[in-house]
Amino acid sequence: MTDYLKGHPGSRILETRSHQETYELGRFMGEKAAAGQVYCLDGDLGAGKTVFAQGFAAGLGIAEPVNSPTFTIIQQYEGGRLPFYHFDVYRIGDVEEMDEVGYEDYFYGDGVCLIEWSELIREILPEEAVRVKIEKNLDKGLDYRKISIEM
Ligand code: ADP
Ligand code: MG
Repeated sequence: MTDYLKGHPGSRILETRSHQETYELGRFMGEKAAAGQVYCLDGDLGAGKTVFAQGFAAGLGIAEPVNSPTFTIIQQYEGGRLPFYHFDVYRIGDVEEMDEVGYEDYFYGDGVCLIEWSELIREILPEEAVRVKIEKNLDKGLDYRKISIEM
């Protein structure tokens, strides 16, 4: 499955059929992640953004459990290969709340950022961010996910 991600930048579409497959995709991408990258994660509630983020953190070598930082906007993890900044901006009322958390230090720092619900703060996302979009298709089963990656 992850063979698709080797080689040149561009758009890829992958399909997963279980929680575990999405986790493994996240882990693969976390293993490859580089300092300064921002990963934007979008998809409806229950799509699998946090599952992907958990795999991604494992790929960075983070042993701590990763959950959605829904009430804090950002959760930091320092125990991995690179600092990991996990954002969930679902409950953000205004993009100015991102200034209050000092987002630029994270987006343009030496760690890796992953942002659940990034479309809600699209005006401040870096141009060169990696985009990951997760979509269900109930015609293909409850556990099916289409994952589009632009990098
Ligand atoms: P989100 O963060 O997008 O709101 P979560 O990652 O918290 O969503 O939840 C995704 C839910 O969907 C989990 O309960 C997970 O077990 C389930 N699931 C079923 N199939 C898949 C799949 N292919 N990929 C990811 N999650 C899946
Ligand atoms: Mg989530």
